[in-house]
Amino acid sequence: MKISHIEHVGIAVTSLDEAIPFYENLLGFKCFAIEEVEDQHVRTAFFQVGQTKIELLEATSDESAIAKFIEKNGGRGGIQHVAFAVEDGVANALAEVQEKGGRVVDKAPRRGAEGLNIAFLHPKTTCGALLELCEKPQ
Ligand code: ZN
Repeated sequence: MKISHIEHVGIAVTSLDEAIPFYENLLGFKCFAIEEVEDQHVRTAFFQVGQTKIELLEATSDESAIAKFIEKNGGRGGIQHVAFAVEDGVANALAEVQEKGGRVVDKAPRRGAEGLNIAFLHPKTTCGALLELCEKPQ
């Protein structure tokens, strides 16, 4: 697989309404998109920082991985995942990881925020970090 850069850093927050002004007023970022991803039970807000983005994630239901993360984290948000841009296909990358004995959360790419094809690797394989692979659909 060919990873070109960190596409985004996913940060869980308890409230987008509280978090967005912090990033805009204190850090001078501009939120360019807010999007709900229904199948993941999250609302996301994006900021561009160079070629990388910050993705804030707010849970829209208790089933959300973000709700579980915040609960485990003592009710606070925090860095939840890091996403790498792959140049030669998320499906190829998933196959390669599994061939090499790695575990994946998603066996096939699915549609994430911003219309990207995404898949998560299993934290048991990645020494504890939740890592996402993503690509723009061809
Ligand atoms: Zn993400």
